[in-house]
Amino acid sequence: MNRVTQERSVLVVGSVALDGIETPYGRRERVLGGSAVYASCAARRFAKTAPVGVVGDDFPDEHLRFLESQGIALTGLYRKPGKTFHWSGSYTGGMGKARTLDTQLGVFQDFSPDIPADLRSCRYVLLGNIHPSLQIRVLDQMESPEVVGADTMNFWIEGEPELLREVVRRVRVMFINEAEIRSFTGESNLIAAADSLLEMGPQIVVLKRGEHGTSVHQVGGEIVFVPAYPSTEVVDPTGAGDALAGGFLGYLASRGDLSPGALQEAAIRGTVAASCAIEDFGPFRLASVSDAEIEARVDRINRMLGRSG
Ligand code: AMP
Repeated sequence: MNRVTQERSVLVVGSVALDGIETPYGRRERVLGGSAVYASCAARRFAKTAPVGVVGDDFPDEHLRFLESQGIALTGLYRKPGKTFHWSGSYTGGMGKARTLDTQLGVFQDFSPDIPADLRSCRYVLLGNIHPSLQIRVLDQMESPEVVGADTMNFWIEGEPELLREVVRRVRVMFINEAEIRSFTGESNLIAAADSLLEMGPQIVVLKRGEHGTSVHQVGGEIVFVPAYPSTEVVDPTGAGDALAGGFLGYLASRGDLSPGALQEAAIRGTVAASCAIEDFGPFRLASVSDAEIEARVDRINRMLGRSG
């Protein structure tokens, strides 16, 4: 059984899903997905990782074996009677944005996790995209996390803005995309929007700008930028944001510092994880890509930044 033993381990709460996805490359039903799955598959490349979530009795055992094969600790993953979270969406054209066709919370509807004792001491926590009340319940049980990051989406910005503001108040790093930050802050200028979000509590905003890259904004005005990895084959963009957040936090956990240099390196690792996630349906390419390929992509981004790598 995989165990989380180090201080610098990452706990990830989020959805564990069976997704239905349609892209110009094809259609898949009940493919393994969910924010906790993509984020964990990315974070575990750099640090011990444990997801917290729930699956239904329809969740195939082979997916649990797959996660176990990734070295991911499964003690925080519960199985309950009912249906696994299901999201379905489609992408067309440039595939910049998913059109959500259906969201069925299933067993997440009234899930209230008890974090196992061995996971409460994880120092790095990623509150992946899921109902903000669940994010808060997880945070309340953690002992003394050093770095807490949170991700969200329009579904919660529109549906649970008050609870989401509480999450934002309590985290150090907020992951958010352009459309979400504009809608959440009411600012159309992205720098003003990031500043406004920083005033609500976080010290760091990781602004995901799709093919235009990622900017990391810090209290005090420091901004670092990382271009998107120049992928030519985007098969299924699902999970890109989660992989970015997982890679970012996993790398920070392995480093243990939050200097602007470390944040830029973390954003590069997150960008690379996202680029792998989008090359196939589900998290399978992200899971199987070699460490050498990850390093080669890190070097390529460093060269794009004019650094020797
Ligand atoms: P991303 O493309 O990074 O936004 O992540 C997509 C993943 O998030 C999919 O695998 C979905 O199962 C999951 N997802 C979609 N909508 C929600 C939601 N409302 N709450 C939690 N997870 C979701």
